[in-house]
Amino acid sequence: MTHFKYISLLLVVVVLLGFGVYNGSNQPHVCTTTWGFFGHKKINRLAVFTLPPELFPLYKKHIDFITDHSVDPDKRRYAVEGEAERHYIDIDHYVKPGEDPFEIVPKHWNDAVAKYTEDTLRAYGIVPWHLNLMLYKLTDAFKEKNLSKILRLSAEIGHYVGDAHVPLHTTENYNGQLTNQKGIHGFWESRLPELFSEDYDLFVGQAKVIEKPLDEIWDIVKQSHYAVDTVLGFERELTKQFDSDKKYSYEQRGAVMMKTYSKEFSDAYHKMMGNMVERRMHSAIFYVGSFWFTAWHNAGKPSLKDIMGEEFSIDSSNYIVDTTKIKIKAREHEN
Ligand SMILES: [Zn+2]
Repeated sequence: MTHFKYISLLLVVVVLLGFGVYNGSNQPHVCTTTWGFFGHKKINRLAVFTLPPELFPLYKKHIDFITDHSVDPDKRRYAVEGEAERHYIDIDHYVKPGEDPFEIVPKHWNDAVAKYTEDTLRAYGIVPWHLNLMLYKLTDAFKEKNLSKILRLSAEIGHYVGDAHVPLHTTENYNGQLTNQKGIHGFWESRLPELFSEDYDLFVGQAKVIEKPLDEIWDIVKQSHYAVDTVLGFERELTKQFDSDKKYSYEQRGAVMMKTYSKEFSDAYHKMMGNMVERRMHSAIFYVGSFWFTAWHNAGKPSLKDIMGEEFSIDSSNYIVDTTKIKIKAREHEN
């Protein structure tokens, strides 16, 4: 498949998932794949280059696996019970306007369960706690020197780290549906990176060992959430300046003609936000590498030389789901 065809195919998938609201169908809104497939793959791939010499050769050898499987959690999120809630946290659900949710929602899972019940937490998303759990699982995989577990969990933790970096994954108004801005979710995380990320400086230097993972996870979520007002507010501002036929355009995506945000509007919005998308992507890459590094460090820095030569195969049917054949379960609480 040529590069161009491959990208076109990805775009069709992303667009079909993310822009259902514009295709004139009466399908329920589908929360998009965070960062789009394009962004997730880019983040995981670049994270490999942040790793120290003890880890780099193993990840480099399997960089295609780490890249391709960055999107598995999204592929199964509509089919696997309990998956969807791992990708976001509607943190503003827990507060009244003006209150700081990060002062109110307990950081530790048990404290949060005691305050709100587990059902409530699951209904409004658990990404910070799930990330913390994934870090433990990856640490165990390193202790066991289990190559397939290391690679699968590494690819997937990269996904959730990426998710936590996206502002609209931290709010109940995740697709602008409460403020008449439907579609903004995919616009921010898929369309903008696809159009502009070639020009981003995504050289992030070396990964670090994260001393207090849960605290840093919450910091990531906090930074994302504090950007929500800008993400929504600037789009609202700009919409006032654009006629609707200038705001949207139709583009051929493979065999499908899709309504999408015009290049002009995208460009103006992207400029208005400064380097926000770039900064969130940059941080995501750094933290993906740092989660991998931290898990290995906390496992006692096992030598990976003996699993370097190992071949492995994962029965992908266990966790990859054909999204065309499943009923969408995610975000039911919004309907
Ligand atoms: Zn996701």
